[in-house]
Amino acid sequence: MLAAIQAHADDIPFFCGGTVAKLLSEGYTGYLIQTTNDDKCGPTSSLGETVLSNEREVDVLARALGFKGVINLGYRNHFLDGESPLELRCRLVYLIRALKIDTVLTFNPWGEDERNPDHWMTGRAVEAASWMAGMDKDYPEQLATGMQPHTVRQLYYWVARHGQPCNRVVDVSAHVETMVAAMSANKSQGPAGSSGVRLRARLAAQGLRLPELERSGTEDEAVDREYIRLFLLRSFRELGQQHGLEYAEPFCYVRPSDSSRIESDVQAYLAQHAVPLGRDGSG
Ligand SMILES: [Zn+2]
Repeated sequence: MLAAIQAHADDIPFFCGGTVAKLLSEGYTGYLIQTTNDDKCGPTSSLGETVLSNEREVDVLARALGFKGVINLGYRNHFLDGESPLELRCRLVYLIRALKIDTVLTFNPWGEDERNPDHWMTGRAVEAASWMAGMDKDYPEQLATGMQPHTVRQLYYWVARHGQPCNRVVDVSAHVETMVAAMSANKSQGPAGSSGVRLRARLAAQGLRLPELERSGTEDEAVDREYIRLFLLRSFRELGQQHGLEYAEPFCYVRPSDSSRIESDVQAYLAQHAVPLGRDGSG
């Protein structure tokens, strides 16, 4: 089971869309969890319409990537650092236990140059919840309902800003069209969405036309996707080329200390060194 945990509608499509599509196609089940309601980023001056259009688009991109469901935590956009970190952590612990989440993709909690408080608040709450969910004395009321402690076994912190650490690249070459579809779903905000259609209109006003924009059709959606292929895949292509791949996504991969590994070390040592007890039980 995996969860990709984002703050805003356009985070997953730009930071881990290919890897999510790949893991889900290989057999994972996944949930998209979003911490804020995106009420600051949208095409109209109406807060309500902004929240609604983003929410609908997240449903579209979640379906495109193959998620089983979307869970919206609904905190106010840009103000997550004013919310209770303990409440956010508690809600994430509950979800990790209830959904038995093994693998998480999210923001690097200590990532350099991160100026958006929604990003680092989300990363830090996830980081703490990922191990705390496995403890048997944290939030005992959850356990009293029959839920079991459950530890997240691996974390992929995506690279949201230049200079943030990366120790793993994932080959997403086979999932580029899914990435494009997910990016294109963000019509309300972000650099993708309806940028192709807007560029076509801008050029037309100047009496110009870019034939490549209409390479796969003249419909709005086809033009938007072509814009993404032309202008928004470059960093994934460049990273891939450095590693002999067509397209790749960068992560800081973290595998928290694994108690099952210690247990297997103990078993291996016992198999070699343990001796039978003497008759008197003293050895
Ligand atoms: Zn964001």
